[in-house]
Amino acid sequence: MNFSPLQKPSKLLALEAITPRLSVGDPLYEKFEIQLKKETTGYYGEKSLDYYFKMVSDQAIRLSDLRLSHSSGYFQIDHLLLFKSFLLIVEVKTFHGNFTYDPQTRKLEKVLEHGGTRRYDCPVTQASIQKKHLQSKLQYWNAPPIPIHTLAVFAEPSATLTLMSPEQDFIYSQQILNRLPELQQFYKQDYYRMQDLKSLAFKLKEHAEKHHVNLVDQFGISRDRIRCGVWCTGCKIDMMNRSKRSWHCPSCGHQDSQAHRKALQEYKHIYGERITNKEAREFLRVESSEVVKRMLINSCKRKEGSYRHTVYYV
Ligand SMILES: [Zn+2]
Repeated sequence: MNFSPLQKPSKLLALEAITPRLSVGDPLYEKFEIQLKKETTGYYGEKSLDYYFKMVSDQAIRLSDLRLSHSSGYFQIDHLLLFKSFLLIVEVKTFHGNFTYDPQTRKLEKVLEHGGTRRYDCPVTQASIQKKHLQSKLQYWNAPPIPIHTLAVFAEPSATLTLMSPEQDFIYSQQILNRLPELQQFYKQDYYRMQDLKSLAFKLKEHAEKHHVNLVDQFGISRDRIRCGVWCTGCKIDMMNRSKRSWHCPSCGHQDSQAHRKALQEYKHIYGERITNKEAREFLRVESSEVVKRMLINSCKRKEGSYRHTVYYV
């Protein structure tokens, strides 16, 4: 059971929307392009684990990208599998390169190409911190105690990990195929009935907070630096023009009457979910406020206010 399928994180969506709209000469262009690659790799690395988790889908409930509060901030769990006999925290890393790990000192180091090493945050330690936070959360809710196990996973296929001594819980993704059945064998006693486990999963999901990244505010990017327009939904290299109730691409000739929907979603990832008719006219590059009004009414979740003060929520 997958209670919260992995979705693209807000930061990735924002970078996907903004980066192609910045000019190549913009001071942030290169930085965003690098970040975009990194976030994309991370997302697909985490997504690649779907395949391995499917084998326990009838025995475990799965929650992905779970951001929960603790006494002084937030903790984030990449994947949480809830079995009746134990909970499993999976911390995913999508690093590139060759790494060594010493389980005694919990030191994770990248072996650099031109000699030397660089130290990285230890995912085993990160997972154990998440475990402590999750334990206190469950205690606070008076949830029945249940063992919590942690697993750190290297999901980038090209990366290598050399262990200085045996460590069963820092593994490559394909090793999940062996490690999961071992853990199920080890944790034999059931602490929860399935229906109670489901309630716990719902509660965790209910308390999970969405993390909204606003790069425009964070980096102080003015509106004139972000190109307006509706990307062609066919070739994705040119902006479309609106005429005769549809969008037309001057480069490839593609037509799409609903292309503004995707552009409005991009607007949301860049500026936030609130949009006025004037802002939409500028962003979509459509002059008629009547035409834009129809588009907003059909594509937005709700609106507030009336007449000139109407605000739509994408
Ligand atoms: Zn096109």
